[in-house]
Amino acid sequence: MEQLMRSLFLSMAQNRAANRWAKRYGLRLGAQRFVAGETIDDAIRVVRTLNQQGMTVTLDHLGEFVNDESEANEAADYCVRTLEAIHASGVDASLSLKMTQTGLDISRELCMSNMRRILDVAKKYGLLVTIDMEDFSHCQITLDILDELRKDYDNVGTVIQAYLYRSLEDVQRLGAEGVHLRIVKGAYKEPPEVAFPDKADVDANYIKLMEAQLLSKGFTAIATHDEKMIEHAKSFIAKHNIPKEKYEFQMLYGIRTNLQQQLVREGYPMRVYVPYGNDWYGYFMRRLAERPANVGFVLKGMFN
Ligand SMILES: Cc1cc2nc3c(=O)[nH]c(=O)nc-3n(C[C@H](O)[C@H](O)[C@H](O)COP(=O)(O)OP(=O)(O)OC[C@H]3O[C@@H](n4cnc5c(N)ncnc54)[C@H](O)[C@@H]3O)c2cc1C
Repeated sequence: MEQLMRSLFLSMAQNRAANRWAKRYGLRLGAQRFVAGETIDDAIRVVRTLNQQGMTVTLDHLGEFVNDESEANEAADYCVRTLEAIHASGVDASLSLKMTQTGLDISRELCMSNMRRILDVAKKYGLLVTIDMEDFSHCQITLDILDELRKDYDNVGTVIQAYLYRSLEDVQRLGAEGVHLRIVKGAYKEPPEVAFPDKADVDANYIKLMEAQLLSKGFTAIATHDEKMIEHAKSFIAKHNIPKEKYEFQMLYGIRTNLQQQLVREGYPMRVYVPYGNDWYGYFMRRLAERPANVGFVLKGMFN
């Protein structure tokens, strides 16, 4: 049943008509629980509150389905504006983005030029940009573009997904090169030819990737809400004396907030991934897919 619900929500995330509807009608259906608001001012307000609670943030201006060059340029403009707002407000935040937003599906050249435009501004302000990892069909090209960008920028990192068979090799290569990596379980619907179908195998691989990256030259963002993964990370960090400059925990805005605060109280570095913008529908559907119990929030949202 849970698997069925997961597939249903992941298919709904791809629905363009529903996405258009959601943009027109604003944050609804309980999405406010996971999305900081529609404007940059809303987002900065949330970042400030989280900073006051001892957490850093990575801001993501939401966007799905970029169809042409002007939409890709506009999405890149939003990333630049987000970086400028972070700098101007003095909050402690970095930026996350998806390369399909900056034109990856239109042309590699367009995506590259938008990425350079964003990274130039981030570099000027000393801010990190993390390239989110999307579905498997974008994985190799994302890593290829990252390699090219790293020749000119040291303020860019990416995400590795534990559900993919290929990921241990990717972590071993990128970690040896000192790349900043966020380790996640993976949020898309992938076939068994490329990804572990069983959760137990994904969890076991998550531990392998996290340990490999923590022992590498690169920074490790341990991005999970899973207490088993977090407890394992804590013991591994203690056993190997991994300094705080080499890692942080990351969780999504609105998910396991108590656990986020507990990690801060225990003295661990904690960063919250805060999405904002009017294109919230796909992101929201992926969060529902992870935990169909969240549908309760949708029902509440519909009746409020
Ligand atoms: C900071 C951050 C960035 C991410 N970036 C990417 C990315 O670039 N690409 C990508 O594919 N995926 C990304 N993800 C999503 C990730 O791949 C997983 O889908 C997501 O984190 C759920 O897996 P989990 O590790 O929390 O473990 P799970 O085993 O799925 O969950 C463990 C526990 O966490 C809680 N939980 C998990 N999800 C939810 C939810 N939606 N609502 C309420 N409770 C929940 C539940 O209590 C659950 O039992 C990111 C996740 C984080 C935290």
